[in-house]
Amino acid sequence: MIEVSGLVKRHGALEVLRGIDLAVDRGEVAVVVGPSGSGKSTFLRCLNGLERFQAGSVVVDGLPLDPWSVDRHREAVLRQIRTRVGMVFQGFNLFPHRTVLQNITEGPIHVLGLDRDEADHRAVALLERVGLREKIDARPVQLSGGQQQRVAIARALAMGPRAILFDEPTSALDPRMTAEVLSVMADLARDGQTMIVVTHAMGFARRVADVVHVFDQGVVVESGPPTAVLDNPSQEATRRFLTETL
Ligand code: ADP
Ligand code: MG
Repeated sequence: MIEVSGLVKRHGALEVLRGIDLAVDRGEVAVVVGPSGSGKSTFLRCLNGLERFQAGSVVVDGLPLDPWSVDRHREAVLRQIRTRVGMVFQGFNLFPHRTVLQNITEGPIHVLGLDRDEADHRAVALLERVGLREKIDARPVQLSGGQQQRVAIARALAMGPRAILFDEPTSALDPRMTAEVLSVMADLARDGQTMIVVTHAMGFARRVADVVHVFDQGVVVESGPPTAVLDNPSQEATRRFLTETL
């Protein structure tokens, strides 16, 4: 589903990603962990065209995102990639002046071309899935952080994405709200949704991840099943990160 090889991203002289190789299978849940500044967010942004990169290749569901094709066909490539890959951020990023329903139906109506009735119908089903049917007419400000994040997940799902990227989706939430959001994410994983999750929630990583990738200073230092990587790490950088996180 996602195939990254030799990915290099620089900001001026700073090499933020220094040759990332990483693949994610259809239906797989990949968890990415690593210290702050190790390039996790930059990596996710390279996967959905939010960030250009200098070398290497990224292929998402057959769609190549190399810097050259992105330069030549930028608008078309970005439109396609954004319907295929959903993104959920730490800060929810809902449209503040729109209702929950309008937040969810905006993309399906304007990008996918669904008619309003069909988009509304889908949105109701998704709100039921994330446990927020009764909030359909609320505005984001009337919701808790955990509820806003569940709306953001419903909004991503409304596009029928092949993969969803989560960038620290619970790091702005208290423990109870964190649990409710992680539980929705675990349900998606059980239903076979392909996802990449950047998180410090090690319990989630243990229970839900198929593979854990450890980032350190712009490279993947270690990858494997959660039991191996988290309980019996082979790399010093992983041990250091785990010690500092716990
Ligand atoms: P993480 O998500 O793992 O905390 P980031 O991907 O946000 O890491 O950042 C990786 C590195 O890239 C950091 O050193 C950060 O300061 C740097 N960086 C990120 N964005 C920019 C930018 N727009 N300009 C310059 N440096 C950046
Ligand atoms: Mg980050």
